Amino acid sequence: MSISLDILAIAAHPDDIEQTCGGTLIRMAEMGYRTGALDLTAGDMGTRGTPEERLAEAEVAARHLRLAWRGNLRFPDARLENTISARMTLAMKVRELRPRVVILPYWQGRHPDHYRASELGYEACFLAGLRKLDEYSEPHRPHKVIYSALYAHVTPSFVVDISAQFEARMAALLAYQSQYGARDDASGLFPQEQEIRERLGAIARFYGNLIGVKYGEPFVVKETIEVDDIVNMGVRSI
Ligand SMILES: [Zn+2]
Repeated sequence: MSISLDILAIAAHPDDIEQTCGGTLIRMAEMGYRTGALDLTAGDMGTRGTPEERLAEAEVAARHLRLAWRGNLRFPDARLENTISARMTLAMKVRELRPRVVILPYWQGRHPDHYRASELGYEACFLAGLRKLDEYSEPHRPHKVIYSALYAHVTPSFVVDISAQFEARMAALLAYQSQYGARDDASGLFPQEQEIRERLGAIARFYGNLIGVKYGEPFVVKETIEVDDIVNMGVRSI
């Protein structure tokens, strides 16, 4: 059964999307697009909470993000590998969901799961378009692959204004109570709500400032962006 999403965000861990491209997903859903999220692992190596708690929290977050669909492949956390079987599983999911646009993590980063998810996502999208991959499902290749670049410290290809969606994105992230809820035994490893709010706010302000708005989310594309009308381009030069 195919679902036909407009946009599918693929990420390594539940709560990644909420931090990197959640505002954009909410804004696109508000515009009427069908959005989805596929988390590759359930965070089973996390210090706090169980995978079952993370999955339940991800469902609550999905409602804040206004997702039409959310799934989890339950690949092994912290040791995600780009194997043939992982690529095939993901490619079949891409065929089922038929997204026009796929959002992947940036291809470099501190956490190995993040850059592996990026590579795995790209290769699965490519494989999904090969007719002979599997005779029981229809081939599908997304039109566009974009990379969320929030933690990549690279110049974004474009920034999406999420000023009106920032609070809803914050609510989605805070749905992960096992990760971000206040606890007495907090060792400093897990920032409390106020700290998270300030940190995410500062980052979103930085990217928003690049396009002259309050809050923004940055993305990178590998292709050049085409412009049809140079008279009506966004963002002032002077
Ligand atoms: Zn992550």
